[in-house]
Parts: sequence; structure tokens; C-alpha cells
Amino acid sequence: MTILDGLTGVHNKRYFLEFLEREIAVCQRHGHPLTLVMFDVDHFKRINDTHGHLAGDAVLKDLTARIRPRIRREDLFARYGGEEFACVLPSTALPGGVVFAEQLRTIIEGRPCPFEDQRIAYTISIGVTTLHRETGVDTASLIRRADENLYAAKRTGRNRVVPSLADLVG
Ligand code: GH3
Ligand code: MG
Ligand code: MG
Repeated sequence: MTILDGLTGVHNKRYFLEFLEREIAVCQRHGHPLTLVMFDVDHFKRINDTHGHLAGDAVLKDLTARIRPRIRREDLFARYGGEEFACVLPSTALPGGVVFAEQLRTIIEGRPCPFEDQRIAYTISIGVTTLHRETGVDTASLIRRADENLYAAKRTGRNRVVPSLADLVG
């Protein structure tokens, strides 16, 4: 069975889920933090509707090509589905995760995607959450937390990073 996404070449959802489950266990055992970053292309349907599905595909390839060089060897970058992506950062606390997420946001914001004779500007909204010495948190609940922050980023205007407030306090 393949572990890579066919369109973009980054890891697929199945591999991401396995990696996240394993890394949660490793980080918990060592008392290390783990940060999960989830992001989604803003108004992607509009890109497809305006420029066509091939342009949408080109944007997804552009996004992964630009983010991949920023991923460290011990981290994971995966396509979660459609135009949603995830990064797992083992041994990274929330402040480092927020800096990383802000870098991704500005990399994407900073340059439009070339497609045929056009340049397609696009942005991403990002949710960040960190697990550190918490019990009873599994893959599904951590993803839900990152996703809630991602949707808060959408609601509050898109093209922004929203971290978990609970993590900042704790
Ligand atoms: P939001 O800012 O709230 O995220 O809005 P959105 O338009 O990005 O989100 P929505 O969920 O309404 O639309 C996502 C679209 O992504 C719908 C779907 O057809 C398209 N899509 C999913 N996978 C692919 C793909 O592999 N290629 C292309 N071109 N489009 C895709
Ligand atoms: Mg979207
Ligand atoms: Mg989406």
C-alpha cells in the first residue's frame, strides 16, 4: 500500500495517522511536547471555479513544493484530504509551533502560484495545538483540537494562525 499522495507527493492521510499515533506515544513516554499544525487553503472552491480544476491542482502542487523544504527530517508533512494538510512536529512546544506556522503562512501569502499565463494568489488558514504531559489525549482528539483552531482562523478572517488558548495557559 502506498504512503504518498498521488497529486502532491507528500505523505497521505493513512501514513499521517500512523505517524501521529506513534509519535504521541514516544513524546508522552519521554515527557516531550508534540505540536500538530493543520491548515487549509482559503476559498479554494473559488480558485477551481474561476481558473478551473487543473489550476486548483497546480495550487496544491505549488503549496507542497514551497512548504516541503521547511520540513525537518524528524517532522511529517501530509495531505489530510482535499485542500487540507497537516504537519506533525515531535519535541516541539507551542511557541515553536506557532513560529513554524507563521512561516508557512507568509511563504504562501508571499508569492502567487504560476499557472499557464496567470498568477494565482492564495492564502492558508492554520490551527496549531500542542500536547504535553496530558493524559487521555489520542490521535482523534488532538486532530479535533487543531481543526477547531483552524476553523476559528477561518471564522476570524482567514490567512491567519490560531493556537490553542488552553495550551498557552498551561
Ligand atoms: P474555506 O476558505 O472555508 O476553506 O473555503 P473553500 O472554498 O476552500 O472550502 P470548500 O470546502 O467549500 O471547498 C473545497 C474545494 O476543494 C471543493 C473541492 O471540489 C475542492 N477539491 C478537493 N480536492 C481537490 C483536488 O485534488 N483538486 C482540486 N482542483 N480541487 C479539489
Ligand atoms: Mg478551504
Ligand atoms: Mg477544506
